[in-house]
Amino acid sequence: MPLYEYRCDACGERFEVLQRMGDGADGLTCPHCGGDAVARQLSTFASTAGGSGGGGFGASGGGCGPGAFT
Ligand SMILES: [Zn+2]
Repeated sequence: MPLYEYRCDACGERFEVLQRMGDGADGLTCPHCGGDAVARQLSTFASTAGGSGGGGFGASGGGCGPGAFT
């Protein structure tokens, strides 16, 4: 059974509900204020804010070192 995220239009509370696929928001109420003006949010299980860190390569200086060719 998928987990859906809802948001209350009245108070902005977000909550998750286990529902059968295809079930709507009928009968759902906000656990915070009890209002029934709730709207399903897009699935957010991929929303880990990993932070775009790490340039990685840095200044590793190319292959052409200070070759002593002369
Ligand atoms: Zn609410």
